[in-house]
Amino acid sequence: MTAPVKNDRVPWLQGPSAASSPDSSADCSVQRSAVPADRKNPWRLILLGAPGVGKGTQAELLTERLGACHLSTGDVFRAASNRRDCDQSPAIKAALEYMRRGELVPDSTVWEMVRERSECILCTGGFILDGFPRTLGQAESLKELMEDEKLSLSAVVNYELPVDEIVQRLSGRRTCEKCKSVFNVKERPPKVEAVCDHCGGRLFQREDDRPDAIAVRLEAYERSTAPLIHFYKNLGLLLPIVAKGSPDEIFARTMNKLSDDKSKAS
Ligand code: AMP
Repeated sequence: MTAPVKNDRVPWLQGPSAASSPDSSADCSVQRSAVPADRKNPWRLILLGAPGVGKGTQAELLTERLGACHLSTGDVFRAASNRRDCDQSPAIKAALEYMRRGELVPDSTVWEMVRERSECILCTGGFILDGFPRTLGQAESLKELMEDEKLSLSAVVNYELPVDEIVQRLSGRRTCEKCKSVFNVKERPPKVEAVCDHCGGRLFQREDDRPDAIAVRLEAYERSTAPLIHFYKNLGLLLPIVAKGSPDEIFARTMNKLSDDKSKAS
């Protein structure tokens, strides 16, 4: 179980308001922890896969190994939901309602949020996108932005898992309210029920991990996000990975595929 990489995503999580934050830096790659990013040939990855396949956990492991920044749109919405009511714009309030129901936030809101943070996408240290793009419209907008900036994707990793296992993972997921570490009541239970092994914080179930929201999220995935598999396959970027096993096993599989792919390209 890996505790999240901390404090390397302030400009991403806070957006333009981070500029005035005392703990922020204009160059987010400076704050990355373990490995310095390769600035000549940085990794620019998209992680695809249904909710619950473990994209967030893999993104954290990949961030530590590759040095590129973990950019999750779901984390941006969750960070916004923790702000005071009066600090939430009407668009964000509406987006949080979609999120609570397990529905996708409209493309226009998501793209506005990503565009406000485009420095993170264009950063010389690269990125690991988790939960974005989630529709063909978002994928087209990202492609256009990257083409305008003459940047290219390294690969699109698609994590695959049968639906019954996905439902089990989502319904058993518990998150620490303090350090955000993730547990699973069946597969990776904490030592003490409902208490985080790392910091003693209380574990909670995300609102969108409740059964009615899970059904809506899986339906939204099939309808809107699964078509991206063909989109990126046609661009020759897709790397399918079986998402069974422990996070470390899935990570090892991912690294093997990425290094095979890079050696083929060079
Ligand atoms: P995640 O943590 O990636 O599963 O995202 C949680 C929720 O945030 C999703 O169920 C959506 O309601 C919303 N969300 C996150 N990213 C996107 C996106 N790229 N497009 C639309 N909705 C999103």
